[in-house]
Amino acid sequence: MTTLLYRYFPHLIPSETHQMLRMRRTLMATGSGLVLTVIVIVARMMGLVDMSITAFILLYSLIWLINLSFPLMISYDINLLFKDPSLTIPQLIWHTLTNTISIYLVPDLHSVFLMHYLLVVLFGAFRMKRRGFLIMGVVILSCYTGVMALLHLSGKHEHGLLSEFLGGIVFLFMLIGVSIIGTEISSLRWALKKRNSELNAVMKQVKEQAITDDLTGLYNRRHLMDILRRQQALAVRGDYEFSLCFVDLDHFKQINDQYGHKTGDEVLQTFADLARNSVREVDFVARLGGEEFVLVLVRTPLDGAVYVAERLRQAMEAARLEILEPSHRVTASIGVAQYKPKEAIEETMHRADIAVYSAKNRGRNQVVTEDNLSSLILSSLHNDADLYTD
Ligand code: GH3
Ligand code: MG
Ligand code: MG
Repeated sequence: MTTLLYRYFPHLIPSETHQMLRMRRTLMATGSGLVLTVIVIVARMMGLVDMSITAFILLYSLIWLINLSFPLMISYDINLLFKDPSLTIPQLIWHTLTNTISIYLVPDLHSVFLMHYLLVVLFGAFRMKRRGFLIMGVVILSCYTGVMALLHLSGKHEHGLLSEFLGGIVFLFMLIGVSIIGTEISSLRWALKKRNSELNAVMKQVKEQAITDDLTGLYNRRHLMDILRRQQALAVRGDYEFSLCFVDLDHFKQINDQYGHKTGDEVLQTFADLARNSVREVDFVARLGGEEFVLVLVRTPLDGAVYVAERLRQAMEAARLEILEPSHRVTASIGVAQYKPKEAIEETMHRADIAVYSAKNRGRNQVVTEDNLSSLILSSLHNDADLYTD
């Protein structure tokens, strides 16, 4: 039934915590209904209820059928079809009605049930706004005066009219008081809810800002290190490989000098877009700083990474940047390295960095892998092993 419901109304798929909260509150209301029923049953056993056993059982079977329909509706997510999925007003009206029935059946205990009316109103503080309290106030007063009039007319209740009237006035004041307190609690809850969602939005933004680079929107250096540590952990577990591409834009200082820093920034943004578009969804692109970038290619061995790097290099070389002179091409030197099992992630970064260095030495605008580095460069690598510790 529920699956069928979601197939046709996918927007109804509930947030589990909300449904649990609604269920808890509904069960609380059902619990107070149970107390009410027990009081009436005890009163009947004491001879205070003038009703045949058959009619009594029939009446309370019906009441409990409806009482239980609320938690059942929530457990089958049917409540989500309604504008207020908490079913606040229907539940409160129903409990007001059962309370009124209790007064009719046991007029001697009507002052006890009057207090129960107030409890019903307080339940509204979970969800209702001022209008809801007004509706409930009118419903409760109508039910109460209605049942009292009925009891008087049928001669079931012998109290003097004056004392009944005074009692009614006191009850009215209490009802207004409880409604005002309920409205206050409720508006506090709504304000808190609003503040919470604003806070969540800000938190999300702060989290995003903490991991991204302002200029390009790529991941920043700190987050890159987190990504790499996670990749390393996966590789350590076995049967997992990944590669790094270190990118350094060629003669970038010249661009700044010739066109200004702002144009330099726009070139960095253009490159960032190109890089983002040249990798798969699962890969990562980060800005290490300045005009240096890193591609983290997951589940990719060296040859696959070289292919991606070469494609990116060609795309950059071919890109026509309108902000620069037509003949001006910005190129990139790229160094590629694959993570070797058991090595420190800094070692992989070093190898990629040295590959970039080698690409620069060989004339820039090219992709170099750790495989084609000279042994001389490799031996110098180990001397400054801490360069990339975060
Ligand atoms: P090479 O080909 O050897 O890499 O030469 P290069 O000029 O690219 O290298 P160098 O390291 O000498 O210069 C990098 C320049 O990048 C220097 C710096 O002013 C510039 N730069 C660093 N960060 C930014 C930035 O955020 N925006 C801009 N516009 N320029 C930046
Ligand atoms: Mg550089
Ligand atoms: Mg450079």
